[in-house]
Amino acid sequence: MTEEISRYDVLIVGGGVVGTALLYTLSKYTDIKRIGLIEKYSDFGLVNSASYNNSQTLHFGDIETNYSIDKAKSVKRMADMVMKYLENGKNNPTGKKIFSKYSKMVLAVGANQVKELKQRYPAFSELFPKLRMIERDEIGKIEPRVLEGRDPGQEILALVTEDGYTVDYKRLCHSFVDNALMKNPELDIHLDTKLLKISKNEDQYSVVTSKGEFRSSVVIIAAGGHSLMIAKSLGYGKNLAVLSMAGSFYTAPKVLNGKVYTIQVPKLPFAAIHGDPEVHSEQITRFGPTAKPIFQLERHNMSTFFEYWKTFGLGLSPILSLLKIISDRVLFSYIFFNFLYDLPYIGKRLFIKEIRKIVPSLKVSELKYAKGIGGTRPQIVNNTTRKLEMGEAKLNGDKIIFNITPSPGASTCLGNAYSDTQEVIKFLDNKFKFNKEAFEKDLM
Ligand SMILES: Cc1cc2nc3c(=O)[nH]c(=O)nc-3n(C[C@H](O)[C@H](O)[C@H](O)COP(=O)(O)OP(=O)(O)OC[C@H]3O[C@@H](n4cnc5c(N)ncnc54)[C@H](O)[C@@H]3O)c2cc1C
Repeated sequence: MTEEISRYDVLIVGGGVVGTALLYTLSKYTDIKRIGLIEKYSDFGLVNSASYNNSQTLHFGDIETNYSIDKAKSVKRMADMVMKYLENGKNNPTGKKIFSKYSKMVLAVGANQVKELKQRYPAFSELFPKLRMIERDEIGKIEPRVLEGRDPGQEILALVTEDGYTVDYKRLCHSFVDNALMKNPELDIHLDTKLLKISKNEDQYSVVTSKGEFRSSVVIIAAGGHSLMIAKSLGYGKNLAVLSMAGSFYTAPKVLNGKVYTIQVPKLPFAAIHGDPEVHSEQITRFGPTAKPIFQLERHNMSTFFEYWKTFGLGLSPILSLLKIISDRVLFSYIFFNFLYDLPYIGKRLFIKEIRKIVPSLKVSELKYAKGIGGTRPQIVNNTTRKLEMGEAKLNGDKIIFNITPSPGASTCLGNAYSDTQEVIKFLDNKFKFNKEAFEKDLM
């Protein structure tokens, strides 16, 4: 007896927040019915979208000082979509808490940083009208521990806003899937189903998985760092490699009321170290993330070691790129210290120096390494420019898209789904309709 092959108009690979946001958008705002999603694990959002693996922040670009104004404009547009989705109670009929709202600020410490923040403020306050510049006294009222024990002669300044969203992105995945299923109960979702091989046969993709073969006219790969590996297997993204930047966290009993970010060194494509309340327990303040390269596509999963090297590429070119990138003094010393932060005993004592820029009186005994917490960001290395690229990357191929998603990939999930949906409609020769007006009305 021959096994029946499932056929779709669109097949999504990966059930993290990017794949499920697309599932939701296609189901709610298009008339495409034959949609499939495969996820290799037994649940959605267990890799980088899990709340314990990322910083749980909805990044808008207002307090992320490594974002230029253009980057902030683009991230804000997409983060606004997630904010609108979250704030609409109808999207969360189960009532399970998906997000918490706190104040958030970026803190400048010392004359140079204060000057930098002051220069940044005019343009950013236009884009973010609720962003206020505040001085010592008000900082102390909002976050008393930021002042406690601080040298009174030290200059500080902050930009603050009430719109600080802390999000459980795994729960957001579930909400997307539940709402997608309500719109289209025929969705074909396969958990515990791993893509093993993909090839293009005439006008269809054949996707061989651990649970058999699927065929689809269009495929969207939303498999985090694995997306580049899959792209390379089809001949795309040959000039790219991935630097897998693991992030660890430390926790302390509640010392902050909201999010407090530090100023990031402009060259670094990672969010600066910050402290903020856990999404489900404001009694715990989490500090981090650190950033150190690992040779795995998934943190805490050694089986992704060989997959990492497949993605990195074995030629001279990625090695030359890597050498060029780490020969930069700023990046080298940053990575060197970040390696040390993960070490027992010494790591905590070194990392606390960074944290004390936020909470000067924090004691070593208050700080605890968060074991097993923190995922890894697939940071793109461009072998043509030999540079480390900022943010997410997307490769568009022949009726296929590959989404590679370092931070702020969770914040931009609906924006990404919006643009992928437009491409999907084109890939399907405009036989289907995307109700953009409804999407924009609901989420933009
Ligand atoms: C330390 C850290 C802090 C971060 N902080 C933030 C933050 O505060 N805000 C923010 O917006 N972003 C943050 N990010 C980034 C964010 O977590 C990711 O961009 C986002 O979760 C990416 O979602 P995704 O769906 O693309 O990937 P994932 O959540 O990793 O999902 C990919 C899915 O694909 C599946 N998959 C992979 N290979 C296969 C296969 N062969 N077959 C089937 N399925 C497969 C995986 O099992 C997984 O479920 C952070 C990341 C890290 C590591």
